[in-house]
Amino acid sequence: MIKQELEVLKSKGQLRSIPNIEAKSDGKIVIDGKEYINFASNDYLGLSTKDDLRKEFLKNNNSLLSTASARLLTGSSPEYKELERTVAGIFNKEAALIFNTGYQCNLGVIYALIGRGDVIFSDKLNHASIIDGMQLAQGDFYRYKHFDYDNLEKLLESKRGQYKRALIVSESVFSMDGDIADIDRLVELKKKYNCMLMIDEAHAFCAVGDTLAGVSYGKDVDIITATFGKAVGSFGAFCVSSNDIISYLINKARSFIFSTSIPPLNIAWSNWILTEKRNIVIAQKEKLQELTSEVHKLLDRKGIKTPSGTQIIPIIIGSNDATLAISEKLRSEGYYIPAIRPPTVPEGTSRLRISLTADCKFEDFSQLVDLIS
Ligand code: PMP
Repeated sequence: MIKQELEVLKSKGQLRSIPNIEAKSDGKIVIDGKEYINFASNDYLGLSTKDDLRKEFLKNNNSLLSTASARLLTGSSPEYKELERTVAGIFNKEAALIFNTGYQCNLGVIYALIGRGDVIFSDKLNHASIIDGMQLAQGDFYRYKHFDYDNLEKLLESKRGQYKRALIVSESVFSMDGDIADIDRLVELKKKYNCMLMIDEAHAFCAVGDTLAGVSYGKDVDIITATFGKAVGSFGAFCVSSNDIISYLINKARSFIFSTSIPPLNIAWSNWILTEKRNIVIAQKEKLQELTSEVHKLLDRKGIKTPSGTQIIPIIIGSNDATLAISEKLRSEGYYIPAIRPPTVPEGTSRLRISLTADCKFEDFSQLVDLIS
């Protein structure tokens, strides 16, 4: 039975396997002994592979490698409190709560906030962690067409009144399209229909926007989630919100309550990057934003259309097989850009997801475009 299902996935071009990655540094990746230009990383500022940074940090830090418990028992430590203070400050929110991953964070927050008799309105292209959170939560959910806020308003008009608490959820920068949600419109709708608004800034935190706080900074967003595993070059995730909501999550978010917290060493690394090394974060973010702007100008000149306004640039091919073939061809030319297929993206929209990092070179991107176009 399982064998057959694997065969079906294979025949549909949807069978996945873990690549044999041997090394990563400075915008390059080594797989099966061969080096490629890495256009597939979420390490948007290139911080996770900077040897000098890591050595400097480890020279002066002796934090523990295990908490051996969930936060509510013996798994907390001063490193946690410091990092929570740092991120609450960056987002200018009352409080923060660290989760083990962005996946667990979205799952736990949605599950905690939405019970029986409550409702969620979610952008159709929201990340799997949001979808899974909605499926786990005891309330109902409705998915509005991607970025179609008129469609969202129609749903709010007809459904909102039937429920107690309501939550609108969207990513800010969408992970597979690189397009940016209209946060002002979402704020307007959440106010008009008495909902809470939750924005996932995973791909914008420290990468997109004028501050480090992503694209919704300064707007009336109730709950913001984001991860340390992308631009911060670390691991873990967090939610920032009001004191009340954070206290509520501490009491209700099962993925927070029932899981051993991540090692203090890792928490200290995230905090060190965001405080002691904030100048490097800002410099790398500016480098990334300059590269992103040059890349979009090039795409415009070449007449290549993309929904993206950010460092995530999808080239939508359509079928799985064609996407895999182009990905393989690019690999033979020295570029690593995996084929992104369903269920990560909707059926028929398989794509190459190019992600730029501060370590990518414009010339490499330009040559890549010549190969694709
Ligand atoms: N939200 C979004 C939008 C994501 O793209 C991801 C990861 N790709 C997550 C949440 C999950 O974050 P993490 O990898 O820390 O679990």
